[in-house]
Amino acid sequence: MLHGGERGGYLAAEMDLLGGQVRSPGNHHHHHGLGGAVEEIDLEMGAAAGVVDDASFARAAFAVVSSSPEASANQQAMHHVLDGSPSSQELSAQLLSSDKPRKKKKVVKKWRDEWADTYKWACVQMVEGSSRIFCSVCKEYGRKHRRNPYGNEGSRNMQMSALEEHNNSLLHKEALRLQLASKDRGITLLERPIYIKALLSKSAESIIETVIRRDPHESEYIQAVQEIVHSLEPVLSKNIQYLHVLESLLEPERVIIFRVPWVDDKGEKHVNRGFRVQFNQALGPYKGGLRFHPSVNLSVLKFLGLEQTLKNALSTFSFGGAEGGSDFDPKGKSDTEVMRFCQSFMDELFHHIGPNQDTLTGDIGVGFRELGYLYGQYRRLTGEFECALVGGRNLLANSNLHAEAAGHGLVYYAKHVLADLNRDIKGLRCLISGSGKLAMHVMEKLIAVGAVPVSLSDSKGFLLDDEGFDGSKAMFLKDMKSQQKPLREYTRRYVRAKYFDDARPWGEKCDLAFPCATQNELNHSDALAIISSGCHVIVEGSDMSCTAEAIDVLRKSKIIVAPSKAANAGGVAVSGLEMASKSNQMHWTGEEVDTKLQELMRDIYQKSVAAAAACGHSKDGPEALVHGANVAGFLRVAQAMLEQGCV
Ligand code: NAP
Repeated sequence: MLHGGERGGYLAAEMDLLGGQVRSPGNHHHHHGLGGAVEEIDLEMGAAAGVVDDASFARAAFAVVSSSPEASANQQAMHHVLDGSPSSQELSAQLLSSDKPRKKKKVVKKWRDEWADTYKWACVQMVEGSSRIFCSVCKEYGRKHRRNPYGNEGSRNMQMSALEEHNNSLLHKEALRLQLASKDRGITLLERPIYIKALLSKSAESIIETVIRRDPHESEYIQAVQEIVHSLEPVLSKNIQYLHVLESLLEPERVIIFRVPWVDDKGEKHVNRGFRVQFNQALGPYKGGLRFHPSVNLSVLKFLGLEQTLKNALSTFSFGGAEGGSDFDPKGKSDTEVMRFCQSFMDELFHHIGPNQDTLTGDIGVGFRELGYLYGQYRRLTGEFECALVGGRNLLANSNLHAEAAGHGLVYYAKHVLADLNRDIKGLRCLISGSGKLAMHVMEKLIAVGAVPVSLSDSKGFLLDDEGFDGSKAMFLKDMKSQQKPLREYTRRYVRAKYFDDARPWGEKCDLAFPCATQNELNHSDALAIISSGCHVIVEGSDMSCTAEAIDVLRKSKIIVAPSKAANAGGVAVSGLEMASKSNQMHWTGEEVDTKLQELMRDIYQKSVAAAAACGHSKDGPEALVHGANVAGFLRVAQAMLEQGCV
């Protein structure tokens, strides 16, 4: 059988997608650059082939957030738009008699280009107790800017032309219609807005709709699904069989939820919730992280499981994807408390894991200490040395290796992105967030390659050393962290460094940014700040570092986003090498492992670029690597799933 894990399977799938030829960027419907923009604006006259029609958009499920002062202003703006047509008609008549057609063309082209991406989303919000669907242009630009997106650049005629074109747009009309229809619908409360993409193909829309209907409260999972489906639109429109595969892929194979009772040092009883989401096993045994953090819930773990599935598929190894963890917070707990918790957690989990079934790696809150206790209990319960935790018998050494490889791999990936921009990483100023396992290894590697990391952060604020961290400062930081001292301590020794409370580093001057803390740590306003900071490339270390709104802003400013599922895949690569070395009875030196890691990261980068190009995205496009990683990872899993039938 041709295994989906083999390169032949991947290529076959890719060729099928392309119908045997590589397509040029302007050759199909996509959303970037002027080609995409013009196509989308044309749609405003009516739905074209492969694009949502009224009925499918109308079926979009409603996800709602609590109201904000901004929301009622938007509502007023919406009403203004509803009854604002007479003046716009009058002014558009003036536009027809305008004697400066050349200027008009330039300005209109400019705002069309900018708005094209925004046209893709409708924002659903809760206003004064009822759901409201806003056209995202109205929401983002407000009344004033909708009229005049370029300040005073356009004449009044042009401004009104922009307004009129907007009022007649498919998205805006649909948003208004849905707003009326939504009054009869059930309302689901969410913590923050969900942006529903408006110009999806009918089939892709139905997939997102199913996910939202099934689990409307799982905002992180819905966000991850939307991004992936958006990338896969060209694949789905060519191959209907992939639609069914995607539907199946988006439902995890198995979700295990269990009680984790434990006793603290004072003898008090506690109960936490344990999870393992075994997402997809089509390519091989499940492999994925364990996260211990109070924010852990099913939505977070499902999104991580899905990301892990595609990440593992991007590597050359054959692993399925999983993620697990607990809402337990190891912070401030004694070693014996953590040990008792880990033992209780493993008492249930060991039934579901094993070297050929499911293997665990670290993630937030799960490091050297936690993996050690988990492994100890696993070994005790099973009598097995062949381990279900990454690292096997050499667990303690290798649990470090996984995070190290992820961190170093991130920097290797960044180097490939820069090489294609004809830039060298040497001397570039880098912002890093987080100060955990991943962040520290990223800092270490950046120093080694001659870049200048200047920040780290934790949940309380961020540390900035304008002169940059070097080898001895890094040693000092590592020491500090191993003694669980707060980051602020650094400023006592290095007095020119500063610690900023309750802030994130994204407004500081930089060339590159490496978010390495947690999901959605870079939001809309951070994205605006990072644009002004001079950043060219964002390399996601934490899974799904950027919110959808942030990605939208970054895309418009042409900042390249290197997606986590490709850029931080170095850990998977080293796990694969470890398993290969065990089965071949081979031993590799540190340098050999590093060389192989570099080769693997290059391979992942090239695969992503090739898949993006096949879908019409040039590699210097801001989102090309995001789409490329999603498409390349999906095609490999999808091929295996197709071969294995309906299982
Ligand atoms: P870690 O060692 O537990 O460190 C997490 C860091 O992020 C800490 O500095 C923590 O600050 C900060 N952080 C966590 N939650 C936060 C929040 N809600 N707001 C602000 N800061 C927060 O975890 P890690 O292993 O480095 O993982 C970090 C990220 O990398 C995760 O997204 C993970 O999925 C991803 N990743 C990790 C690996 C790996 O092998 N470890 C591999 C690939 C990807 P406090 O200490 O103040 O909480």
